[in-house]
Amino acid sequence: MITGKNYIGNKQSASGDKTYRTFNPQLNVENTPVFTEATPEEIDEAVTLASYAFKTFRNTSGEKKATFLNAIADEILALDDVLIQTYCSETGLPEGRAKGERGRTVGQLRSFADLVKEGSWVEAAIDTAQPERQPMPRSDIRKMLVPLGPVVVFGASNFPLAYSTAGGDTAAAFAAGCPVLVKSHPMHAGTGELVASAILKAAEKIGMPNGVFSNLNSSGIEVGQQLVKHPGVKAVGFTGSIRGGRALYDIAAQREEPIPVFAEMGSVNPVIILPEALKNRQKDLAKTYAGSITLGTGQFCTNPGLLLAIKGENLSNFIQNLSNEILKIEPAVMLHPNIISAYESNKQKAISQPEITVTANYESAVKTNYAKQTVATVSGKTFLENSTLHQEVFGPYSIVVQCENAEELETIISKLEGQLTGTLIADAGEASKYSKVIAALQNRVGRVIFNGVPTGVEVCPSMVHGGPYPSSTDSRFTAVGIHAIKRWVRPFSYQDWPNSLLPNELKNENPLQISRLINNKQTKSGI
Ligand code: NAP
Repeated sequence: MITGKNYIGNKQSASGDKTYRTFNPQLNVENTPVFTEATPEEIDEAVTLASYAFKTFRNTSGEKKATFLNAIADEILALDDVLIQTYCSETGLPEGRAKGERGRTVGQLRSFADLVKEGSWVEAAIDTAQPERQPMPRSDIRKMLVPLGPVVVFGASNFPLAYSTAGGDTAAAFAAGCPVLVKSHPMHAGTGELVASAILKAAEKIGMPNGVFSNLNSSGIEVGQQLVKHPGVKAVGFTGSIRGGRALYDIAAQREEPIPVFAEMGSVNPVIILPEALKNRQKDLAKTYAGSITLGTGQFCTNPGLLLAIKGENLSNFIQNLSNEILKIEPAVMLHPNIISAYESNKQKAISQPEITVTANYESAVKTNYAKQTVATVSGKTFLENSTLHQEVFGPYSIVVQCENAEELETIISKLEGQLTGTLIADAGEASKYSKVIAALQNRVGRVIFNGVPTGVEVCPSMVHGGPYPSSTDSRFTAVGIHAIKRWVRPFSYQDWPNSLLPNELKNENPLQISRLINNKQTKSGI
């Protein structure tokens, strides 16, 4: 049952007087539950509890953390229909999407469970002592990754499960040994509370310390800002807009003790269509891209918001086909009235720039909260000169840039802000003629796609979901896949430490049987 209260550790609390409700965009009504925003005192209590919990959670074995993560997955599944119905009522997204996202969330939790159960992720490195070394003896030095401390997680409006309460950031932080404080997203606070209850049930069953997890309601930016400023918080995970991520990054940098903020933010995900592909496949490409631009009503961080090609008859035909195809697609509901009004105003701002031509704009009447898809086009020169056109319009919108030639294409790509993805559409043998364009693209993005679409992020160890700023605040890390754990740890060395006092990961006998780098040789052997 949804209570609307905060979880301060395993205690429910609602001592504040600021309340709010979530919204059903399909029905255009507020949902029934009333949520109470966390007070400064409740936030302080939650962070203090997390700091205490860290003292034991940091030393919890990989095996026990794996049991905890799997138990969270089980408890989420046990929420069954209540969770799915709440998700749908708070987002307008269909049941199939809710179930798919739940599967992904559960899969993420289980993959981190496997990682920490096996244990080698700590990157143990051991350099044994060399007492006879000349001119100086060498000490025994042993290194491994250790958790940072309490982590604050902000989820995004468009992924209530996979990038929110028990999403990738939370799963990775628990796997690392960090307590988590979730700043609940106000648009899906009910979904968030249900998932929080699943986490806390699992924590209680497995005997995790109280404070390993808290869920704090908020209807505005204050709760999140207070959390990031709190001295007990040691890192932040954020998924959302560039404006939000940057604001929190700046707050974290101005603290007396600055802390890392791993923000995954917006992106226009450039797609380059090379001339031969354009000539031979423009009809298919137009259909595929009409689908990708409108997928999930354009509410994906990997939405293709920018298509680039060299101008000519083939490109003109492609634009016409894309416009025709996109207008055949039925408009769909967006997540919230605020998101649709931001979409309409950002789109208006983009298409009212000088020398822009709108080639498709859904004209018929649509239901309240439904988005009208739009395609616009512009010359390469105008695009280069006007940075407003480079900004993300979150929704079913894309702009096609008609470049003069390959040099202009390369210049545009190299002047783009950092992006999550870049896509190259090319026919056989064509790509090798555009090596400079490809190199420029690789320099601006975290993932390149060949002859596909950027929408859809596979969860696997080889995935990079992140990229140069502003697609993320730290392009050295991925937010998706098991390597996302590295955001929540730091390297730590023991010098001449007695074997009995070392953690199991670094003991001579290698009781966990993990892979370690011993005197520059990777091995599972003991010493
Ligand atoms: P959002 O408006 O930035 O909100 C995200 C969270 O941050 C919310 O909890 C919000 O709280 C909080 N927040 C925003 N500004 C803040 C500030 N100045 N100070 C403190 N807290 C702040 O984003 P959204 O609408 O949820 O998500 C849509 C955006 O996320 C799109 O730009 C999309 O591209 C991006 N996104 C990126 C990824 C990725 O993996 N890179 C994935 C999904 C979405 P309040 O709502 O209470 O203000």
